Amino acid sequence: MAGEPQDDCLFCKIVAGRIPATIVRETETTVAFRDINPQAPTHVLVVPKAHYQNAAALAAAPDLAADLLRETQAVADEEKLESYRTVFNTGSGAGQTVWHVHAHVLGGRGLEWPPG
Ligand code: 5GP
Repeated sequence: MAGEPQDDCLFCKIVAGRIPATIVRETETTVAFRDINPQAPTHVLVVPKAHYQNAAALAAAPDLAADLLRETQAVADEEKLESYRTVFNTGSGAGQTVWHVHAHVLGGRGLEWPPG
């Protein structure tokens, strides 16, 4: 069911503290932690504690979606990023590898556009 923790989900395990991660922020509904393979000086993943597969699925919980977006800015503020990029990969063709919605917050270097 949407929102329920999934036994086989890596980010549900990080949320539950069953897999270690470098957590930078936590709220009642979200967790932000450093990406294990950073692509920029700041590369933080912001996830809802509840399990949704991707950004479109999260739209079923608009208050939670707003919490997640608010936390991307909170991370940027804490990391003192004047500009940064927020990325939601959806589908394997776009690079999604973990099927628990996560916002990548990338910053601390110049970022090119269009992305690869
Ligand atoms: P995606 O490719 O699905 O958009 O993003 C998944 C991200 O999760 C990748 O950037 C990857 O480096 C990161 N990641 C994968 N496994 C782990 C892990 O065990 N811990 C942390 N902190 N990040 C992970």
